Amino acid sequence: MDKLQKGTISVWGGETERFPGGTTTPPIINSVTYAYDDLDEWYDVAIGKQSGHIYSRNTNPTVAVLEEKIKALEGAEAATSFATGMGAISNTLFAFLQAGKRVVSLKDTYGGTSKIFLDFLPAYNIDVKLCDTTNHEEIEAEIEKGCDLLYLETPTNPTLKVVDIKRLATAAKKIGAVVVVDNTFATPINQNPLSLGADLVLHSATKFLCGHSDAMGGVLAGKAELVKKVFQFREINGASLQAEPAYLIARGMKTLELRIERQNKSAMQIARFLAEQDKVEVVYYPGLETHPGYEIAKSQMSGFGGMMSFSLKGGYENVKVFLQNLKLVHLAASLGSVSTLAGPPRTTSHVELTEEQRRLLGIPEGLIRYSVGIENVEDLIVDIKQALANI
Ligand SMILES: *Cc1c(COP(=O)(O)O)cnc(C)c1O
Repeated sequence: MDKLQKGTISVWGGETERFPGGTTTPPIINSVTYAYDDLDEWYDVAIGKQSGHIYSRNTNPTVAVLEEKIKALEGAEAATSFATGMGAISNTLFAFLQAGKRVVSLKDTYGGTSKIFLDFLPAYNIDVKLCDTTNHEEIEAEIEKGCDLLYLETPTNPTLKVVDIKRLATAAKKIGAVVVVDNTFATPINQNPLSLGADLVLHSATKFLCGHSDAMGGVLAGKAELVKKVFQFREINGASLQAEPAYLIARGMKTLELRIERQNKSAMQIARFLAEQDKVEVVYYPGLETHPGYEIAKSQMSGFGGMMSFSLKGGYENVKVFLQNLKLVHLAASLGSVSTLAGPPRTTSHVELTEEQRRLLGIPEGLIRYSVGIENVEDLIVDIKQALANI
């Protein structure tokens, strides 16, 4: 798979060998357990001496197809999967962090991730330091003070801040910290953190990878021995991905490159359009030259993604009028779907947090998060225009 390009890998990853019965799509294998006639062979599979499946909480052939796709797309040695994106994140954090360890991260991580940093890890006597997201000097200084795990997310949710993966991974490597990057917003089509020095990359597969808002999952890819450590924890705590959602995500991934190319292009056009409107206050999109993270984004991303956010003059009252007048959009949480989705962070990315926690993390209450779908961009712009005219 290594020499193939990403569009090809998305289709063929995990699917190069003939499936039973000659099916040309991966079979959805709901079997909980796998039978062996030979006890010696069964034992060899159970201890990992021979490849195969024992019990679907550990591994499953349909789930393995999805894991193979993400492994190849991220250029990783190994990959594993979880019931949700938060399953991937919590399993990774808890597999590497025990009492007395120290994790350095950013103030702008996904709401659920922030909740783990703010509420759960401190309760286990794990030292958590959340830095100002774009203050690279501060992050480097905190890494130097001692750090077992550096956890990054870029671009961030919902203000699309960009952090320099290579620069921070270099600092973390010097003291032997494990570097983890949440690559959900960028997708492996636009950004490959492992090639920038990260040890592990994870995704909420619920978003762009699945692409159709009809299945939940999480994936983790990277160095084999590190992925194994998290896999062994997940096997036991049981946050395993089921065959049916794995099938849907793997199917969605076959069109990943097509969708992302379209979403990159449409988002760019919409961001430029919004930036010219009088009623719009600020547009947050890393592809705009005026975005503070533009130069870093340009150097580490091959496309700027389908996510943006913006604020309107006149605050939350106008946000309400605008959103309720949009027609080609679901006012709903989540992102990365074929249909356009929009909403304020207080009901989307940061719904898990209190208003006080959002304020502390600098998440504006009057922001609109806009996830560009694969509709024709001209139609989306007409829709935004008429919704703005209602203000
Ligand atoms: C949605 C999201 C998550 C959590 O994923 P779930 O599948 O909802 O558990 C984590 N990180 C980012 C950046 C997300 O957008």
